[in-house]
Amino acid sequence: MSTAPYNNPGLTFNGNIPEGMVGWQSPSNIALVKYWGKKEVQIPCNPSISFTLKASYTETVVEYCQASGKKRVTFYLDGKLNEDFGKKIDTYFKSIESVFPFVKQLDFTIRSKNTFPHSAGIASSASGMSALALCLCSIEKEHFGFEDNEEAFFRKASYLARLGSGSAARSLFGGLVSWGKIDGDNNSSDLWGIQRLKEVHPDFLSFHDDIIIVDASQKKVSSRVGHGLMKSNPYAAERFKQAQSNVAKLMAAMKTGDIETFINITESEALTLHAMMMTSNPYYLLLKPNTLQIIERVREYRQTTGIPVSFTLDAGPNIHLLYPDKVQADVKDLMDSELKQFAFNEMIINDRVGEGPVRVSI
Ligand code: ADP
Repeated sequence: MSTAPYNNPGLTFNGNIPEGMVGWQSPSNIALVKYWGKKEVQIPCNPSISFTLKASYTETVVEYCQASGKKRVTFYLDGKLNEDFGKKIDTYFKSIESVFPFVKQLDFTIRSKNTFPHSAGIASSASGMSALALCLCSIEKEHFGFEDNEEAFFRKASYLARLGSGSAARSLFGGLVSWGKIDGDNNSSDLWGIQRLKEVHPDFLSFHDDIIIVDASQKKVSSRVGHGLMKSNPYAAERFKQAQSNVAKLMAAMKTGDIETFINITESEALTLHAMMMTSNPYYLLLKPNTLQIIERVREYRQTTGIPVSFTLDAGPNIHLLYPDKVQADVKDLMDSELKQFAFNEMIINDRVGEGPVRVSI
């Protein structure tokens, strides 16, 4: 498979340039086996697998019209002009001109909002870029048609989202999603995400993810820099091998409903991600004292009660508390009595596994 299967110089407007408006809501996702380390262009060094979230999402509405030759992208976040995000989107549009050459013929006014703090390790880049990629795919569909089925539409959106932010490739589908070539799995790909719904025990699809915001401020080290540092990390090669093996083990456990193995791999993956940051040169540390307080209490609670609640982390200090629906009441007690005190301003996002993106009716 070519690394550029969607390049299509034919997708340009001949004659009248249209104008219109399109919108999508697209969720964030939380990786269970982590993606950390990439090759050109946005190819992961190892496969990853994630839960798609429900309450944490981006809603993006794109208005497009004939290019003025001046500013291509005007971007508003929460109603406020955001030049910094706009510039990044303009760079992204340049990078996908070989897939959608029509972006050169248009100007875009983009209005977006996230339901959760951005740049804090809850993957606004994943929800933001997947929402944008879907809008572009809808513009294609509207004006050039799209002969294939819905599955092919979302696969293309996943390919495009990946070019904006690697983990965004996983946000296009509901439930459980993998991205990256898995040894022995011919369906999997480095180019787009694959939905794994048929391979998961229903218990896991009822999972909750309470995101405990320990610190909502912007990360000091961007994910881009973090991925780059893996190139010289002395443990990188071993880590990439471990992730391959963890994806295989986790998928087998999730198929049978083996929650013990799920917890073991998920928590180890979270700590390994941060270990990679701590063993990079220069090293950096995103965990906060309150992150560790929560981790200790969750482990102790699980050991003493046997209730299957576990944690994972993204590239930030915030805790994702994962548990099946049937123990929701117990976990609420734990949260109220022990964990909430460590959240910044008692900020908790009660999220759960979601069904994937939704078109916004305009
Ligand atoms: P996070 O943990 O939130 O993904 P990153 O630093 O990895 O943090 O990504 C944040 C970047 O994602 C922002 O600088 C911006 O470029 C992009 N982003 C965030 N929200 C949106 C959005 N709604 N639309 C488009 N891009 C967004």
